[in-house]
Amino acid sequence: MAEPTQRASVLSITDLTPHVRQLVVKPQTSKISFQPGQWVSLKLPVGPKPPLNRAYSMATPASPTGELTLVFDRVSGGLGSNYLYQLNSGAEISLSGPYGNFILPHTLDRELILIGRYTGLVPLHCILKQMFLSALHIPILLIAVAPNEEETLFHQEWLSMAAQHPLFRYLPLVAPCGEVEAVEKTTRMLTSLIGEQAKVIPLLCGTKAFVRPLRAYFVEQGYERKEVKVETYD
Ligand SMILES: Cc1cc2nc3c(=O)[nH]c(=O)nc-3n(C[C@H](O)[C@H](O)[C@H](O)COP(=O)(O)OP(=O)(O)OC[C@H]3O[C@@H](n4cnc5c(N)ncnc54)[C@H](O)[C@@H]3O)c2cc1C
Repeated sequence: MAEPTQRASVLSITDLTPHVRQLVVKPQTSKISFQPGQWVSLKLPVGPKPPLNRAYSMATPASPTGELTLVFDRVSGGLGSNYLYQLNSGAEISLSGPYGNFILPHTLDRELILIGRYTGLVPLHCILKQMFLSALHIPILLIAVAPNEEETLFHQEWLSMAAQHPLFRYLPLVAPCGEVEAVEKTTRMLTSLIGEQAKVIPLLCGTKAFVRPLRAYFVEQGYERKEVKVETYD
């Protein structure tokens, strides 16, 4: 964690769903240049031994003004996310970054399959926004799993992206009973979609209970572990 810690101001706050909030923050000292899929570490003044470090992925690609868009859910009893939820516009936080290797591979020569559950969709949103800025040349399938319809993240945006880009397919899923159900529904969908076809490039993000069984699914299908890019949140 060699990146310097700096103060950042909260510029705006938007509720995306009843339990998911977006903060736009602006680092005060120097711009953070990052690749889509990377995250920043927030140092929050809470917990028994502050600062409490919590990672948040950038939700949108780097902006010329240096603003960062962070999107997070309010975890019941969660110290970090509840602290962030009570911040007002104009508040200051400490952060450092960027960090992480959950980025697109250099060679994009096969279909890309992005799979995220709930706020695990945040870095995938950033990756997709960046890809849509340049012309798409490979097919992309996004499987977006939500805990319920109200908590479906970025739904309208992805519907309109799918309408505009013939190479982009968007498959939303709702799994109200937790990660086990989410994995079952996702693997069922994957089996019918990619069962017989040539290898794809999979990127998976969410909690371990969601991501690990899905990575195991790809490995069972003949993928090497390193061919399946993952980011886990817990
Ligand atoms: C690389 C990385 C990137 C991340 N990016 C994001 C992001 O963009 N948006 C985001 O909301 N979170 C993200 N997280 C998770 C985030 O860092 C915190 O762990 C989360 O906000 C919960 O912190 P807390 O202190 O409120 O809860 P804690 O007191 O740490 O409790 C966490 C518990 O809540 C549950 N939980 C519910 N929702 C989440 C969640 N989103 N992440 C982790 N645990 C959850 C888990 O079961 C976990 O055991 C990321 C984590 C990592 C490691």
